[in-house]
Amino acid sequence: MLVADSMLGKLARYLRMLGHNVTYIPSDRDDSSIIEEYRDYIILTRDKMLNGRASNSILIKSYMPIDQLREVFPKLPPPEHRPWELCPFCSTELERVPEKTDLPEYVSRIAKEIFVCRKCGRYYWKGTQSANFAKMMEGIGIEIQ
Ligand SMILES: [Zn+2]
Repeated sequence: MLVADSMLGKLARYLRMLGHNVTYIPSDRDDSSIIEEYRDYIILTRDKMLNGRASNSILIKSYMPIDQLREVFPKLPPPEHRPWELCPFCSTELERVPEKTDLPEYVSRIAKEIFVCRKCGRYYWKGTQSANFAKMMEGIGIEIQ
């Protein structure tokens, strides 16, 4: 399991889209409580102090999220899930929406397969955004379907 500090929100979303379960640390937490609570996790951090104190952490040096992903992805264990199985915003497993439900009309019109996050209520489907993401991943050597 991965946990990302508050400076790595976009990296966390990318990792979830690739199938990694990522917990997010709110910015008001102090290092000691982070180390205590997440001792069984891999901690991804931009914070050199935290990295120095936690042996289970990986220091992220890059600034841009895509560079951060390129930097850290090869160092991680294989994702627990397949790409697109987790909600990018809250890491909850997505459910396929059965047909003929009360979806927003614009969604049911454009997509065949629709997924919902039961926790935050967001809908997902394959479209331009997912194609762009797959292309972006290909650009840094990560193959997804
Ligand atoms: Zn969600």
